[in-house]
Amino acid sequence: MQRSPAKVGFVSLGCPKALVDSERILTKLRAEGYDVADTHEAADVVVVNTCGFLDSARAESLEAIGEAMARNGRVIVTGCMGMDEGAIRGAHPDVLSVTGPHQYEAVVAAVHQAAPPAHDPFLDLVPAAGLRLTPRHYAYLKISEGCNHRCTFCIIPHLRGDLVSRPAGEVMAEAEALVEAGVRELLVISQDTSAYGVDLKHAADPWRGRPVRAHMTDLCAALGELGVWVRLHYVYPYPHVDEVIPLMAQGRVLPYLDIPFQHANPRVLKAMRRPAHQEKTLDRIAAWRADCPDLTIRSTFIVGFPGETEAEFEDLLDWLDAAELDRVGCFQYEPVAGAPANDLAEPVDEDEKQERWERLMDLQRAVSERRLARWVGREVPVLVDEVDGEGATGRSPADAPEIDGVVHLPGATDLVAGDLVTAVIEESDEFDLWGRVRGG
Ligand code: SF4
Repeated sequence: MQRSPAKVGFVSLGCPKALVDSERILTKLRAEGYDVADTHEAADVVVVNTCGFLDSARAESLEAIGEAMARNGRVIVTGCMGMDEGAIRGAHPDVLSVTGPHQYEAVVAAVHQAAPPAHDPFLDLVPAAGLRLTPRHYAYLKISEGCNHRCTFCIIPHLRGDLVSRPAGEVMAEAEALVEAGVRELLVISQDTSAYGVDLKHAADPWRGRPVRAHMTDLCAALGELGVWVRLHYVYPYPHVDEVIPLMAQGRVLPYLDIPFQHANPRVLKAMRRPAHQEKTLDRIAAWRADCPDLTIRSTFIVGFPGETEAEFEDLLDWLDAAELDRVGCFQYEPVAGAPANDLAEPVDEDEKQERWERLMDLQRAVSERRLARWVGREVPVLVDEVDGEGATGRSPADAPEIDGVVHLPGATDLVAGDLVTAVIEESDEFDLWGRVRGG
C-alpha cells in the first residue's frame, strides 16, 4: 500500500540568493516524494533557511526558528546563520540539525532522518524546471556563488567563500528549462555578476551547438536569445559592463542595472574596500544613458559608515543629485558581527545616522518622482503580477519584483498573472506608475 507522503514545512528568509538555495532543497525533496506543508502544524518536520547578514536578520532568523519549534518542535536549520551554530543552539538547543549555506545534501539527509520519504517515482515526478517559490512567470537564476572581494562591512565571503561560477552551459540549460516551464522573466543573481566566470578563466561551454564563454557579456547575449525578459542584479561598474549596454539598447536584455554603489565619496569607498571604487561613475552613467536612454539604474547606499563625516555625506548627496538614479535603497550602517569595519574609528552615532538617512531619502524621493514622470504619455510593456476585482498590477522593464515600484492598471480585470501587455502611462508618483492597457 502506498504510504502518504511525508510533509515538510519550509521557511525561507534572506536575499534572493537564499531563495534559490531553498528552491534547490525543495526540488530535491519533492523529487523524493515529499509534500510541502502549508502550516507548521501540518508538517512532519520544518526546515528554516536563515539569513545571517545583519544583526536584525539574525534576530529574525532566531524568531522564525523559535516559532517553528513552538508550533512543530522538529526543526532543521540551514543557511547563512547556520555558520554560527553556537548562537542557534544557545537560543534553541533542541533543533534537530544545523548546517550552513548551500549544504543541500546535509539538509536533505537531516530531513530523511526526521521523516523518511515515501517515494514513488511514478507519482512524484518533479517538473524539469524544479520547484520554485517565486510566481510561475519569473524566476531567479543564480550564476555564481561567493565573492572575491572583501568589503569591510560584509561577512559574505567569510560565510560563502570565494567566487565559484557555474559553467555557462549549465546556466543556459537551467534558463531554457525555466522558459519552457512558462517563465517570462529571468532575474540573474550572484554576489558579483560582473565577475562571472573569472574563476573559470571564462572557459567556453557548448550551448545550441556553439561555445558560450563564462563571461557576463557572452552569457547576457545567450540569455537574450531566449525571448524572455532578462534582468541583471548585483553588477559592479567594471569596464566590460559597457559591452552589455548595446544588448540593452537592442532590446535583448532589459535596460536595467542593479549596481550597489554604497557610497560616492572616494575616501569612504576606499575604507569600505568597494570593488571598482576608482571608476568615474558619473561619466560612465552619462555614457550608458547616451547609448541606452531608457536605462533604469537601481542602487543601494550605506549612510553612517564609521568615520563618515558630514562633508563626505554631503558628497554623497551631491553625487545622487547629479546621478539621478531611478531607484535607491538606503541602509544605516549596522555593525555585523565579524565585519572588519566594526573596528574602524569614529562610529557615527545613531541619531546622526537616522538624520542622514532621512536627508538622503528625501532627496531621492524628489529624484525618483522626476525620473518616473518621464514615462507619462509613453507606451511601456508590462508583465502582469497580480489581478483582483479592481484591476491588475504589473511591472515595466524598470521595475524588479519585490524591490522596485509597480504599474497599476485599474479596471484591467480580464488579465492573468504572467500576461505581457502594452500600457499607456497616464500618471506617476515617486514610486509607481498608473496606466491603461493599449486597446483595452
Ligand atoms: S562585493 Fe563586497 S558586499 Fe558584495 S558580497 Fe562581496 S564582499 Fe560582500
